[in-house]
Amino acid sequence: MRKKTGIVFFPAFDWSISDMHPEREERLLYTRDQIFEEGVLDLPEIAQYPPLVATPHDIARVHFCVPQVDDQVLAAHRIAAGAAMNLSDKIMDGQIKNGFAIVRPPGHHAMRVVHGNRGFCSINNEAVVVEHLRRTYGIKKIAIVDTDVHHGDGTQDIFYHDPDVLFISFHQDGRTIFPGTGFADELGGPTAYAKNINIPLPPGVADKSLLYVVDNLILPILEDFQPEFVINSAGQDNHYTDPLGSMLITAQGYAQLTEKLKPDLAVLEGGYAIESALPYVNLAILLAMAGRDYSHVIEPDYQPEKLVESPQVTDYVHRMVANIQRVWEKSKAITIEQLCGSNKFYQRQKSIYYDTEYFEEKQLEKVRTCTKCPGYVVIDSHAAQPKIGRCRVLAVSIHNRCCKQCIEEGLEAYNEAKKDYRYSYVYLQDKTQDNFLTFNREDKSELRTEG
Ligand SMILES: [Zn+2]
Ligand SMILES: [Zn+2]
Ligand SMILES: [Zn+2]
Repeated sequence: MRKKTGIVFFPAFDWSISDMHPEREERLLYTRDQIFEEGVLDLPEIAQYPPLVATPHDIARVHFCVPQVDDQVLAAHRIAAGAAMNLSDKIMDGQIKNGFAIVRPPGHHAMRVVHGNRGFCSINNEAVVVEHLRRTYGIKKIAIVDTDVHHGDGTQDIFYHDPDVLFISFHQDGRTIFPGTGFADELGGPTAYAKNINIPLPPGVADKSLLYVVDNLILPILEDFQPEFVINSAGQDNHYTDPLGSMLITAQGYAQLTEKLKPDLAVLEGGYAIESALPYVNLAILLAMAGRDYSHVIEPDYQPEKLVESPQVTDYVHRMVANIQRVWEKSKAITIEQLCGSNKFYQRQKSIYYDTEYFEEKQLEKVRTCTKCPGYVVIDSHAAQPKIGRCRVLAVSIHNRCCKQCIEEGLEAYNEAKKDYRYSYVYLQDKTQDNFLTFNREDKSELRTEG
């Protein structure tokens, strides 16, 4: 028998930014109605599954939640991430060929350190799946392709120094939309150079140019990287009716994109035209993943003559694709020495804005530029969260492939910071041992998440 496409549907009835906010549970109810009406759940190609609940340990594998996972994460977040995890398990054990987690809250704006909610996101659902797949199945190379209209800045942040995770995001140019990042020169740190590919598109891109980007840039880069698992951060806000984006993409365009990309797992991200776009785009994507005909899935107000891209936009997209192709080709010959000389660490300073609660985080992030392994990362972060006030933390992340010396140095950085009175909390994320610790200065306790 041909293998099925799995879906998990979780609309998170009890979670919303506010009653009038576009990120509320109605976002998925029209989609559910549409899927029911089409009889999709009765199709032999589709299997529906319940969500799992991601544990604090699953989340600590990715995030440093300040002060603790439970302070930043609600049941809805754990279920959305757990839904994606459950599908990834069904794919890995061969029950289904691929899956679509139609869930909220979304996740792709959640960064490694979490002081609060950003862009409707608290934890990064796709990143939780990546670490789950690595830990449970020993998968090495994973690609995440972000097709949301917004830059997946959280996913970029989490994997910026990780050579085993290729992140490709196309999105509306950051000069014209939240979060204002995602430019082509953000290519990843020296130990993961060119494993972060941004494709910033001008407003007004229609299906044909988007598919040109997929055919000429995304697919060839994936072919080169040879991932063992492909995750699609499936944001539907490139749709021509979306109130936040300014693109001209249709449900048919999204379905063709999915057919080309062939993701193992798609996880819903944004999309705020809850009646005019989401039901059609989600249905078309689902049918494409299941290998069914989707040609009849057309928006009621679809008028092709209104969705014409300007020649300037087409020209711009073609030139950008050629530029990024060159960067990718050249990157193969670039060494870590060329990128940072003999410096032991590569560092970057970051200001991260939490747009839901209006505060800013300041970060200094350092990665050990090791030639034997991906290096360990040390993050010094402070922010004034509304709930707990000003708080400075130090977090150490040790990659699962770190060499012996990097593991020792990483552990030492954690132990030194425990003696440093400036840090209220000190975190260790040792992925080689699946060991995640939080040191609390106030009561000198050291908490370990249970897995
Ligand atoms: Zn994107
Ligand atoms: Zn979005
Ligand atoms: Zn090393």
